[in-house]
Amino acid sequence: MKLYPLFADLKGLPVLVVGGGTVAARKVAALLDAGAQVRLGAPQLDSGLMQWVEEGRLRWMAGAYMPAWLDDVWLVIAATDDRALNAQIAAEAGERRIFVNVVDDAAQSRFHVPAVIDRAPLTIAISTAGAAPALASRLRETLEQVVDHAYGSLVTLAQHHRRHIVGRFPDLAARRGFYRWLHDGPVFSLLRHARPADAERCLTEALRADKVGPAKGSVALVGAGPGHPELLTLQALRALNQADVILHDQLVSADILAMARRDAERIDVGKRCGGHQVAQAHIHQLMLMHARAGQRVVRLKGGDPFVFGRGGEELTYLHAHGIDCEIVPGITAAVACAAFAGVPLTHREHAHSVCLLTAHGRDGIDRLDAGILANHRQTLAVYMGVEKIGALTSRLLAHGRRADTPFALVENGTMPQQRVVAGVLRDLPALARSHAVTTPALLIIGEVAGLAKDHACFGQLLTVQQETTRRAAHKPRA
Ligand code: SAH
Repeated sequence: MKLYPLFADLKGLPVLVVGGGTVAARKVAALLDAGAQVRLGAPQLDSGLMQWVEEGRLRWMAGAYMPAWLDDVWLVIAATDDRALNAQIAAEAGERRIFVNVVDDAAQSRFHVPAVIDRAPLTIAISTAGAAPALASRLRETLEQVVDHAYGSLVTLAQHHRRHIVGRFPDLAARRGFYRWLHDGPVFSLLRHARPADAERCLTEALRADKVGPAKGSVALVGAGPGHPELLTLQALRALNQADVILHDQLVSADILAMARRDAERIDVGKRCGGHQVAQAHIHQLMLMHARAGQRVVRLKGGDPFVFGRGGEELTYLHAHGIDCEIVPGITAAVACAAFAGVPLTHREHAHSVCLLTAHGRDGIDRLDAGILANHRQTLAVYMGVEKIGALTSRLLAHGRRADTPFALVENGTMPQQRVVAGVLRDLPALARSHAVTTPALLIIGEVAGLAKDHACFGQLLTVQQETTRRAAHKPRA
């Protein structure tokens, strides 16, 4: 079956829907949204439909179907569960040359209702001519993710300035160039950042200027989340799809890099050369150089860029050099590891606050506030702590944190090789050692960590009975 695609303006036109159930209600909702004058025929109605009738939003013809219902209407949707009745309605509508749709019956339908991505005034409609509606909805879901809501605003803006644009660029090639700038450049970016007035100003200034300047480079500081590709945000995915250059950390998984634009240049700035990471100053220079060359740079970091990710420094540096920046948050390791280990970071009974901290760096542990560390009913989420576990544990105990405070140490959180080692504080250094826990690992300390043994549902959980460990800890080493 080959269909002719069509978008109909139903504003103010009478349209008939036959049926009073949930399917009819869905059709009625879409028709009302398009401004149609809905007439609904059915012996009785679902409560939602009844409410619309009471609100005066549609006219209800109560009772069994009558051909007279077809009088004056432009379209009919048959949404009853009676096949014979639907067929009768389709035949009678056909005789009167009224377009009819029978829900879930392509053969009886003169018009089909597509799966829709609604970014009004932009509408994307998908049809498989009734052959594979499930595939149409699958495609719709995919497009819902790709076509963000700013597209609707861009269409409205373009419509508003259309005559002006045509007047300013009578030459078709020049006009195309301008539209390319409009669709890919700063105007759209401003709309995406909920700054419609600035977007409008940017467009008007560009129309007044002699010519549109060369593409301006930019940097997006993007959080890639903890590693699991499905924990990437839609915004991060969009940034990866638009990137010309990606500067990524070592923590970013290959699965996530594979989702980026195929021809984007990928630079691993987490690579250790001779034991040293690429220096931060060098990363700054790389970002600046590529952005100044007009490229869209994505600085891709594990977790969130603003949580132990040096995103703050990079942002300050870029702003100081006049580079346009965008920050795309990511799911930080504490949040993700806690979820995947079955540990609620706060809990009405066990923890009223959570503290994200790192034991890393020179004097890292010594600088931590003793009060923060020792508070009971507070969860500590320790980043980059593997090497300092012994010192951190001693410091906590010295400041009065109870020796039987539970902990959960999450290694490679959210990845297929995730391991959770759980126990109590006094056993922490020994358990980390005996299980040879390596980086990346996130350490959760606090009463809530005790819940891991009941709720962990991903990867391996290694718990040790408290009593056994206590004995083991006191056993003299062989
Ligand atoms: N910006 C990142 C943190 C970078 S610091 C974020 O918001 O998550 C690096 C530390 O984060 C690691 O040493 C480890 O403690 C933690 N981390 C990051 N990803 C992790 C993961 N998948 N599993 C466990 N810990 C992780």
